[in-house]
Amino acid sequence: MKLESITLHRVAMPLVRPFETSFARQTTRVLLLVHVRTSEAEGWAECVAMEGPLYSSEYVEGAEHVIRSYLAPALLKATDVTAETVGPLTAFVVGHRMAKAALEAAVLDAQLRASGVSFGGYLGAVTDWVDCGVSVGISPDLDTLLDEVSGYVDEGYRRIKLKIKPGWDLIPVYAVRELIGPDMLLQVDANTAYSAADIAHLGRLDPFNLVLIEQPFVEEDIATHVALARAIETPVCLDESIVSVGVALDAIERGATSVINIKPGRVGGYLESVRIHDLCVAHEVPVWCGGMLETGVGRAANVALAALPGFILPGDTSASSRYFAEDLVEEPFVLGTGEHAGQLAVPTGPGTGVTVREDLVRDWALVAPVTLRG
Ligand SMILES: [Mg+2]
Repeated sequence: MKLESITLHRVAMPLVRPFETSFARQTTRVLLLVHVRTSEAEGWAECVAMEGPLYSSEYVEGAEHVIRSYLAPALLKATDVTAETVGPLTAFVVGHRMAKAALEAAVLDAQLRASGVSFGGYLGAVTDWVDCGVSVGISPDLDTLLDEVSGYVDEGYRRIKLKIKPGWDLIPVYAVRELIGPDMLLQVDANTAYSAADIAHLGRLDPFNLVLIEQPFVEEDIATHVALARAIETPVCLDESIVSVGVALDAIERGATSVINIKPGRVGGYLESVRIHDLCVAHEVPVWCGGMLETGVGRAANVALAALPGFILPGDTSASSRYFAEDLVEEPFVLGTGEHAGQLAVPTGPGTGVTVREDLVRDWALVAPVTLRG
């Protein structure tokens, strides 16, 4: 395909409730949307970078800048662009995986719409429905936390994940385990908030039968995750550390992680996500799909990815209503009922299978859109 244009939209969407992690408290989701046009089709994607460089070094205005100055010009001057060539064509730029992932996903959406294939069909989905978990932010107090968790249990979610940080860990985990009973899947995510001195303390989570503890230490520190995995019974899962299939292989071989959270934005796209999935299947390491407060645009592609066979744990692929009163797509994600309670249906239409509400993209625009042409 020849790309005719790439348009960048910076929008702000209100969240239904503040979302607090060990690194930030968000009340609005500011994000960058990428819209590509080819002679045959259009494609949309979202960049998962946050407004500020708090979760990762990438952030919305930085992603916009690197796309405008480096990545988009390289793609717009190429004579043949497909999802498979976006990586090689942009490899001259170091890092900026979230920006690259957004471009790759938008190109893939256009490519699949032109050929009538769904994301799930292209990526290798093997199921029509995926199990959903929900990520619960740090609460102002225990009562608020338990109210929120009760609501998610009533909605049918199949797994609860609690954000933790020093000073907000053992007591909330104990209280939620008491609330939901011994059998429901429960896991925790520290978003790098602990240090090697906390290993014995984190071992005190073992009695709560957690599915896993996610990324307690800083992303570059694989060695301390190895030490933790040797010291505690709870499985250790890496998120922020896993930026490529090479890092995933190293972490698995060193024993730093026995479960992997795959986030397409963090690893540079859906194609690298499938490579990490395939590696993990070969090493019998279960994977699940993380979340970055995606709108329906990114959520659609994530749900398709979560339908691959190695995704045996419920993901952070929640319903649209978990984060937004109104989603950016005409087909918001709603949890199933009956035998599909706590599940989302994998979209089957061409591309992501969802239709972007351009009226909302306009209404929620923070700045005028920017269109780049070859
Ligand atoms: Mg995480």
